[in-house]
Amino acid sequence: MTEKNLKARGMRWDISDFYASAADEHVEADLKTAVAQAENFATTYRGKIAENDLQAETLHSAIIALEAIYTKTYKPAIYAFLAFTANTADDAFKALYARCQEVMAQVQNLLLFFELEVQQIPPARFERLLASGKLDLYRHYLEGVRLYTPYTLSEKEEQVINKKDLSGKHALVNLYTEYTAAFAWQLEVEGEMKTLTGEEVRNLLRRPEPDLRARAKRAYDGRYGENEIIFTNVFNAMLKDHALEMEMRSYKSPMAPAHLRNRLAPEIVETMMAVTTAHNHLAQEYYALKARLLSMPKVRGCDLIAPVSQKREVVTYDEGKHLVLQAFENFSPEFRRLAQQMFDRRWIDAEVRPNKRGGAYCEGTVPGHHPYILMSYNDDIDNVYTLAHELGHALHDFLAGRKQTIFNYQPPLVAAETASVFAEMLLTRKLLAEVKERELRIAILTGKLEDLFATIHTQNYYTRFEFDAHLQGAKERLSATQLCQLWTARRTEMYGDAVDFLPEQKWYWAAIPHFIHTRFYCYAYTFGALLVLALFNRFEEEGKSFIPRYIELLETGGSDSPENMIKKMGFDIRRAEFWESGLRVMQAFLEELKTLVQ
Ligand SMILES: [Zn+2]
Repeated sequence: MTEKNLKARGMRWDISDFYASAADEHVEADLKTAVAQAENFATTYRGKIAENDLQAETLHSAIIALEAIYTKTYKPAIYAFLAFTANTADDAFKALYARCQEVMAQVQNLLLFFELEVQQIPPARFERLLASGKLDLYRHYLEGVRLYTPYTLSEKEEQVINKKDLSGKHALVNLYTEYTAAFAWQLEVEGEMKTLTGEEVRNLLRRPEPDLRARAKRAYDGRYGENEIIFTNVFNAMLKDHALEMEMRSYKSPMAPAHLRNRLAPEIVETMMAVTTAHNHLAQEYYALKARLLSMPKVRGCDLIAPVSQKREVVTYDEGKHLVLQAFENFSPEFRRLAQQMFDRRWIDAEVRPNKRGGAYCEGTVPGHHPYILMSYNDDIDNVYTLAHELGHALHDFLAGRKQTIFNYQPPLVAAETASVFAEMLLTRKLLAEVKERELRIAILTGKLEDLFATIHTQNYYTRFEFDAHLQGAKERLSATQLCQLWTARRTEMYGDAVDFLPEQKWYWAAIPHFIHTRFYCYAYTFGALLVLALFNRFEEEGKSFIPRYIELLETGGSDSPENMIKKMGFDIRRAEFWESGLRVMQAFLEELKTLVQ
């Protein structure tokens, strides 16, 4: 028997098609050219875009020039970023990355006037420019730039808000981030007292020992309760700040800016959320079943992601690679071909080694250049999922890159995880088709279902809590007790009485950074995952004829609104039925799990 290659030994990427090294003279030359081009752009176009006689051709050439400048600026920055994350101890790349960020800021400042002038074009003239047909490729981008125009205040007012935010909103975000990042926990693990970070404590919830999980969760959430003065004040200040800004800018709902950012009509999000809430019973049925798998009378709030199986199968990088490639091949030979290239041409860095950044990412680079993947492959099925996920992103980048330019390339936030989560579904499908052993099938199904509940139903209840808090917080200051009550009410709406939560868990609202960093971010997760399930359901029903439409969807990149992109595939996301079809995939997984557990 030959020895297995573990931890993807030797699987390093080759990024020399960007530059030869940090010292490569082309790096500095590109950065200098980018700045010179940006200066030239400013001289040519400043004051011209908002002019009365602006022609569509002029606007079009300006955009083409801008895209060229951004491409030139991004390339060295992406190169430095890739190299630095692959070896964070390399000071040359750290310095180069800092230099690239400076240049990017310089270039952005020089180009800032362009979008401001686009915003100033009066509506009637803007419509005429679009009607010329010469700007069709950039319609979505230009409309995006002008999206906030109706809510923008005078220049003076905007300046005052920006300055006061430094000591207001931004200061509170910094306080929250730094304060919580400094948290450390003392916990006894395997008979030894340990000092742990937040991430380490959260990881204990995946441990098989029920008592350890309970101690970890009590300590983690309890810490937020011990600091209730800080979190209640920060939370209330953020609610008030948002309410005041909504009023000044005449937004109709606290969620309105998030809908604009996502380019979604409010009714669509409302329908999606209502359908999700109407399917909370799936989570309740699941956790009742999980109690039986864990041989407990009832699942506790600290057991939601507890393992149901002690088995840990070794899956080497080569085995993982073949699993993913076959899963893609079953869907479309083109998917396999594109993914295969990523391996063959060494665009993936999977080796586990010191000084490599944690986590995984796919860097899409720029249209016309291929993507790169960085991960640390640790020889289990979770890592195979990560590989499938990142390769899904890479496919999206390849496909969008061959049809789109730099401004239209990035998918919208709510569709950014479409290809990656779809790729994970393809892997699940393959595993379920092949794995016969009962315990492994249970592990695959519980893993996938918990992942989906966390992304769909949980984020839905987070959003409902956030909305309640904003509505009530705009009217009065909320006490810690009120915040905890709003939180537990929405939590109960999701879990019913299927789960016994620990008393400390009423504080968990204070532990979610999204509420502080970006208002109403969470529903993007619900949207993205349900969208994939709905598409996947259609694929299972329809078979091969679905594939070209799916490829076309990925090729659209970010050149249209989510609603239009999906309409082109023949779906209406305004209808509840669309979202319900996604939840049917979860229902089917749950039914299969029920028969296995009987
Ligand atoms: Zn992703």
